[in-house]
Amino acid sequence: MAEVKTKLLIIGSGAAGYTAGIYAARAGLEPTLIAGIQIGGQLTITTEVENYPGFVQPIYGSQLMNNMKEQAERLGVNIIEDMITEADFLTTPFVCKSENNDVYVADAVIIATGASARWLDAKGEKDFMGFGVSGCATCDGFFYRGKDVAVIGGGNTALEEALYLSTLAKSVTLIHRRDTFRADNTMQQRVLDNPKISIEWNSVIDEFKGTDSPKGLTHIVMNNTKDNIKKELQVDGAFVAIGHNPNTAIFQNFLNINDDGYILTKSDSCKTNIEGVFAAGDVQDPIFRQAIVAAGSGCMAALEAEKYISSKNK
Ligand code: FAD
Ligand code: NAP
Repeated sequence: MAEVKTKLLIIGSGAAGYTAGIYAARAGLEPTLIAGIQIGGQLTITTEVENYPGFVQPIYGSQLMNNMKEQAERLGVNIIEDMITEADFLTTPFVCKSENNDVYVADAVIIATGASARWLDAKGEKDFMGFGVSGCATCDGFFYRGKDVAVIGGGNTALEEALYLSTLAKSVTLIHRRDTFRADNTMQQRVLDNPKISIEWNSVIDEFKGTDSPKGLTHIVMNNTKDNIKKELQVDGAFVAIGHNPNTAIFQNFLNINDDGYILTKSDSCKTNIEGVFAAGDVQDPIFRQAIVAAGSGCMAALEAEKYISSKNK
């Protein structure tokens, strides 16, 4: 067991965490960044990213995140492959314990642990992730122009994604497990009025099927729970939109968190209810959930942490 003292502890190695690290390192804070189980964050599970500025051609998500990692390392961020399992924000300096049994003692903490898309755990889902199965229409919808796609879910996200995809795709099938939507009425009406969107009610996904070479999704097998009839739907893309789980469980005893588990931050700020603890990226963003937004808030959190640390040292 080692005790690591640091001015600034950053938890998470997605766009928010690395950006916070880059800014904090340049400000001379010598930050320590704990990368977590998914080094590079959510973008490492997608293929091409086309909407992150600065890249003329699409860049692979894993390459983009590796670039951010190398940039952070070059500037002196101390990146550690470990997972924070416990946090204590009641007294300062803050104390976080890790899976490797190390203890991090920090003057300030930036939480950038992201949010994980919920998945169906259906057969073939993992195999075709990035090859037809996606968790983000804003990110990947562009690749399905003129094609047949499905969206799975019945909440506002699923309906919003179906509407967005209807502007690009040839057809959109919305597959929902019940016979009423959870989404609000306005969204429902827009979907029902859209001639490009058809709905499969009471349907659960049994399997995602496709080809190995070239690798790609071709069909969804679903089961209607009312009549127990299986159906195969030809699709080029399937967007699973059944919600996100922000990774906040270990912070819930200390921080103000909304009903969906997202950390509440002050308006136009990454400050949480505890002075010296900041939150950046998807972990505090139930709305946009985009890499550029996460990076932007990582920058904000680092600037705020720098201010906080220098005010303490005066
Ligand atoms: P994340 O990327 O979720 O990173 C969280 C980090 O925290 C991870 O490194 C994880 O290991 C770490 N972590 C979690 N818990 C702990 C812990 N206890 N201790 C230590 N570390 C921990 N956005 C776009 O802008 N363009 C796209 O094209 C795009 N495509 C996407 C495709 C897919 C399939 C998905 C799922 C998302 C996509 N997004 C896209 C959204 C984008 O990935 C997220 O908005 C962005 O990754 C959020 O960054 P983040 O740093 O807040 O969190
Ligand atoms: P959500 O409201 O929790 O909806 C999740 C949907 O996925 C539900 O329809 C649910 O079905 C379905 N689902 C969950 N697990 C499933 C499973 N294992 N298999 C099949 N279906 C499953 O999540 P969300 O749509 O991401 O929205 C999250 C929050 O953000 C909500 O508060 C929402 O209002 C808000 N939001 C708002 C807007 C907007 O205002 N424009 C846009 C997006 C999101 P059931 O209905 O049967 O439970």
